[in-house]
Amino acid sequence: MASLDAAFDNRDRSANRVGRRYPLQHLDPHRLAPGAPGAAPKAARPIDVALRRIGEWLRDHQRAIHIAQWSVLFFYMALIVVPTLVPLPERTSHIWSHVTLLAQFTFWGIWWPGVLLSTVLVGRVWCGLLCPEGSLSERASRHGFGLATPRLFMWKGWPILAFIVTTIYGQMTSVYQYPLPVVIILGGSTVLAAGIGLLYGRDKRVWCRFLCPVSGVFRLLAKLAPLHFRTDQQAWRRYRRAPGTAKETVNCAPMVPIGVMRGASDCHMCGRCSGFRDAIVLERRSPNHEIVHVAGAEPKPWETVMLVVALMGVATGAFLWTTSDVFIAIKQTLAEWAVAHDAMWLIQPVLPWWILTNYPDQHDVMVPADGITLIVFVLGTAAVIACSALAALALATRALGRWRSARFHHLAQCLIPLGACGVFLGLSALTITMLRAEGFDPPFVPEGRALLLAGAALWCMVLAWQITGVHAGTHARALPRRLAATAAASLAVAVGLTSWVSLFFMG
Ligand code: SF4
Repeated sequence: MASLDAAFDNRDRSANRVGRRYPLQHLDPHRLAPGAPGAAPKAARPIDVALRRIGEWLRDHQRAIHIAQWSVLFFYMALIVVPTLVPLPERTSHIWSHVTLLAQFTFWGIWWPGVLLSTVLVGRVWCGLLCPEGSLSERASRHGFGLATPRLFMWKGWPILAFIVTTIYGQMTSVYQYPLPVVIILGGSTVLAAGIGLLYGRDKRVWCRFLCPVSGVFRLLAKLAPLHFRTDQQAWRRYRRAPGTAKETVNCAPMVPIGVMRGASDCHMCGRCSGFRDAIVLERRSPNHEIVHVAGAEPKPWETVMLVVALMGVATGAFLWTTSDVFIAIKQTLAEWAVAHDAMWLIQPVLPWWILTNYPDQHDVMVPADGITLIVFVLGTAAVIACSALAALALATRALGRWRSARFHHLAQCLIPLGACGVFLGLSALTITMLRAEGFDPPFVPEGRALLLAGAALWCMVLAWQITGVHAGTHARALPRRLAATAAASLAVAVGLTSWVSLFFMG
């Protein structure tokens, strides 16, 4: 631990050095609210002052953040490793009496739903302040080989591919029930993060920026956050350092181009750049702002794929298959085919647990026919949902005038609230199942789900209306075009809503 402490100390000193170069002058409340040119500056609201102070507290207390990160890392490793050292729980075991059930409840019942919720509420604070993989990768890269990031890593499809593969593999190996698949999926991801950090970058998070399987989801969800570090680009350009002083630097581990940062998607909210060049500040904003006013300026087709195919499609399929009659029908057909063609291996548990669930002692086995059906069902569900939603979005795009792919990808972003809500409800369904198994039956669950889904759908439609306003122009046909485009985008919302309603209310 001595070397780790030394690393913290070095980091702190450098962070504080940077911090002292752009200290409290911007806490002057009269400088906080930009007024009209020539007008007297308005006094900032207490909430703005408080947010600014929080940003600067983060910048100046990196040591406390590092201690929190190491604490989370040790807790996380314990939750992954300890359940593999004890027998699987009995039917009479409880969350409070068996470490495996405690780890399951913590990981899948509290941790993941909590991380998703926090990203929507406060941006990627989890990534920047607590994530064990991010902190480990950054720490490893500080002392590693410092190689340049390969171009191969920069392919935007990696997080999507990794998300789809881990989601399906997790279902095949029953990662929510058994500790060994957790070691492979979460432990394997942590080892990869550390290895990538050791090889590439210097003091950076190459893993988080290009490869992390959940970074694509976090990028989308962070767009809804009402908090962000905003760069005042005029102040940035205006800034001149005092003569004779050294050039200031700030280490942004996820490599965000902070001088031109316009959104919260890539920012890990670590606070290190707070106050930098007197231009960056933690601020509140409308939760619609980034989607409506920033996302359209720089269309990102990969985000559309992540949202519509992975989040609305694959994630929904992964939650739906256990209750689906279609799944049973496909499996039945495959099993009959196997018997008719003497392919008995398809209906026998011949694969090991690390490929397909195989725990005969627990009376829990999957046969290859289950695995094949699962993959077909999840990918098929994703294809149906994605094609329907994309067709509706294409219709909305055409309703606004000539085809423009930038407009299409901008309109797709209106679906983010529903994607976020669906995956949160899907994960929290595990929380509720685990609580019910312990005899606690939380009240108003169906009502709460209905309310959240209805609210998310309504939010999507408001976003669609506002996005159409950006593209429709001001001519006489603008209003009918906006109405038609919003109606078509609402069909895409209905596609997502239908899948979640069928999971929660028709299963
Ligand atoms: S832009 Fe970079 S340095 Fe600034 S808060 Fe975000 S992650 Fe931290």
